[in-house]
Amino acid sequence: MLLFKEKSALRNYLSAQKETNKTIGFVPTMGALHEGHLSLIEFAQSACDLVVVSIFVNPTQFNNEDDLEKYPRTLDSDIQLIKSKFPKNVIVFAPSAHEVYGENISSSQFNFGPVASFMEGKYRNGHFDGVGTIVKKLFEMVKPHKAFFGEKDFQQLLIIKKLVELTKLPIEVIGCKINREKSGLARSSRNALLSNKDRLESAFIYQTLQQAKANFGTKSVKEIERDIKTAFERHPLLKLEYFEVANAHTLEPFSNKKEQYRAFIAAYANNVRLIDNIALN
Ligand code: AMP
Repeated sequence: MLLFKEKSALRNYLSAQKETNKTIGFVPTMGALHEGHLSLIEFAQSACDLVVVSIFVNPTQFNNEDDLEKYPRTLDSDIQLIKSKFPKNVIVFAPSAHEVYGENISSSQFNFGPVASFMEGKYRNGHFDGVGTIVKKLFEMVKPHKAFFGEKDFQQLLIIKKLVELTKLPIEVIGCKINREKSGLARSSRNALLSNKDRLESAFIYQTLQQAKANFGTKSVKEIERDIKTAFERHPLLKLEYFEVANAHTLEPFSNKKEQYRAFIAAYANNVRLIDNIALN
């Protein structure tokens, strides 16, 4: 495993590698690595000769100072973990904010269209402009052939596909399955901020998504929404921010069962914000 902190050194190394016709895969992360991240790296390794993993907590995608401050940062153990799991053909890029942004830590504005206006776009003002800004910068530095993103952040995956379309960068964007804890809770760096008890109780999020899926064939979407809102109202820990049934391609609200749909949840366990989603049909 090689570690780069400077973009010029990374670029030089990668251009030499590309001259030998190696395919480059890219897995952008914010670190505090868990098995969800590792599953992406593993998948990228199966599809590419060389995999670049970036570790960078991107300030411009946080709409809340406190959330940014609390975000877990474990760079040394992340590097050790990658070294032990992927000794060969993996490169870690862990730049500073100055290396990425220079003096001007701010977002560009993107026109992602309606897909950015629902759910995370609605509840986290400016979030997707921050995501678009960092991913575009990283794509331009790494110039990968393929980039791997988790379906855990399903809306983000659609935004990145839109970003590639808008910027015309020749990159294939590949979605990877959600990796879960034994309890069913979707793995997330934020899970490290939960007490053991809260972590187990947060599996309720996935349980309700499974319940929505089981009822999708027989109940109306309105009934499903009502059941889930009521279940959260009764829950001692979790506060629901949104439950949405949305078109899996456009994220438009439910209209008819001929299309493909997913159910999406954002909820707070104390002050920790958790998201998850499931395919309904
Ligand atoms: P993050 O470090 O949270 O920004 O995530 C980096 C990448 O890992 C994103 O593409 C996420 O969607 C993906 N990811 C995070 N958690 C999971 C998970 N539980 N399963 C699959 N992918 C994940």
